[in-house]
Amino acid sequence: MSATVITNIGTLVTNDPSLRAPDPLGLVRDAAVVIEGDRVVWTGESGKAPAADDRVDADGRAVLPGFVDSHSHLVFAGDRTEEFNARMSGRPYSAGGIRTTVAATRAAGDAELEANLTRHLAEALRQGTTTFETKSGYGLTVEDEARALRLAARHTDEVTFLGAHIVAPEFADDPAGYVALVTGEMLNACAPHARWIDVFCEKGAFDGDQARAILTAGKAKGLHPRIHANQLSYGPGVQLAVELDAASADHCTHLTDADVDALANSATVATLLPGAEFSTRAAWPDARRLLDAGATVALSTDCNPGSSFTSSVPFCVALAVRDMGMTPGEAVWAATAGGAAALRRTDVGRLVPGAYADLVLLDAPSHVHLAYRPGVPLVTDVWRRGVRVVREGAETPSNP
Ligand SMILES: [Zn+2]
Repeated sequence: MSATVITNIGTLVTNDPSLRAPDPLGLVRDAAVVIEGDRVVWTGESGKAPAADDRVDADGRAVLPGFVDSHSHLVFAGDRTEEFNARMSGRPYSAGGIRTTVAATRAAGDAELEANLTRHLAEALRQGTTTFETKSGYGLTVEDEARALRLAARHTDEVTFLGAHIVAPEFADDPAGYVALVTGEMLNACAPHARWIDVFCEKGAFDGDQARAILTAGKAKGLHPRIHANQLSYGPGVQLAVELDAASADHCTHLTDADVDALANSATVATLLPGAEFSTRAAWPDARRLLDAGATVALSTDCNPGSSFTSSVPFCVALAVRDMGMTPGEAVWAATAGGAAALRRTDVGRLVPGAYADLVLLDAPSHVHLAYRPGVPLVTDVWRRGVRVVREGAETPSNP
C-alpha cells in the first residue's frame, strides 16, 4: 500500500481530543499528514514526518478534516425557485410548499432522482463535504419512501428514514392513520435501507406523543433516532430527543433553559442549521448559549429545496460566526467533529491515526479564513478515503 505525505501545512486542524487544550481544534503549525490507503497513519510537525512514496507540498496552506454534513434532504425532484423569490420579495405565495416537492418526487423516475442526488453530492464534495447524511421524506408512501432510501444508500451509509416529515396529503383528515402507516408497513419497508429514523416534531407536523410513538417504533426495528426539534417554535422535541438518547436534536432555534440544560447533560448533539434561518429570514439559533452551557454543537446545511437550498458547509460556518456567536474555531469544529458526533462517528471529522483520510486543503493559511472570507471558494483540494477526488485547477471532481 503506497503512502502519501502532505507536508508544509501552515495550519493543520486535527480535532485530536488529546491535543484539545486550550483549543478544541488540536491545531498543529507547520504540520504534515501521512495517508496510507484510506486512512490517516501519522500527523505532526512537518520536520518529523516519516518518508512516504508520494509527497504533496501544501505550501503553507491550511488542511482540515473533510466536512461532516449530518443533515440534508437530497432525494427530491422539482423546483421551488418562485416560492423563494416570492418570500424574499414580500409577496404572498400560495403554492403547496413541501407538498410541491412531494408531488414532483413521486412523479420522478429513479434515474432522475439519483441524477439529482449525485449532482448535489458532487457540488458538496467540491466544497469539502466528505461525509453526509441524507433523508427520505418527500415520498410519504410506502413505495416512495423505500425508494428514496434505497437510492440514498447507494451513496452514503448515513441514511435516515423520515416518513414523518409531514402527514401525507392523502391522510390530511386522518393523521393517526398516517402515524399507523409510518410505524407499521412503511417502517417495515424502510428499515432495511436506513440507519436512522427522524421526525419533524413541530406544530402542524407531528406532536410529542406522535413523535415518541414513531421513534420508539423505529428503535424497535434497530434504527437510531434523530429529531427535527424546536425549529419554528418552542416544543417537546428537544426533551424527547434527550429522553430517547437521539444522536442529534436538529435546528434547536427556540429553546427554554430546561432544553439547553437537557442537551448539555446528555449525549444528544445540538445540530444548528443556519441555512434555514438565512433562507426564511428567521431568528438565528443561539449557539453561544448552547456552547456556554456545555452542549455539543454541530453545524450542517439542511440542504433541501424549500427552506435551505445550500450545499455549502463553509457558508454555514460563516453564518454561524457572524450571526450565532460562534468563534471561527468553534464553527469549524462543529462542522467537522461536531457533525461526526451527531452521527456517533469517531472515524471521520478528525485527522488522527486510524481515522479515514478525508481532508480538505484551503487556499488560505488557516481555517479562520472560512469565516473571514465568506463566499470565497477556498477549498481547492479534497481527499476522500485517501483518494484526491478534487484537485486544484481540475474541472470536475472524480466520482465520489
Ligand atoms: Zn431538515
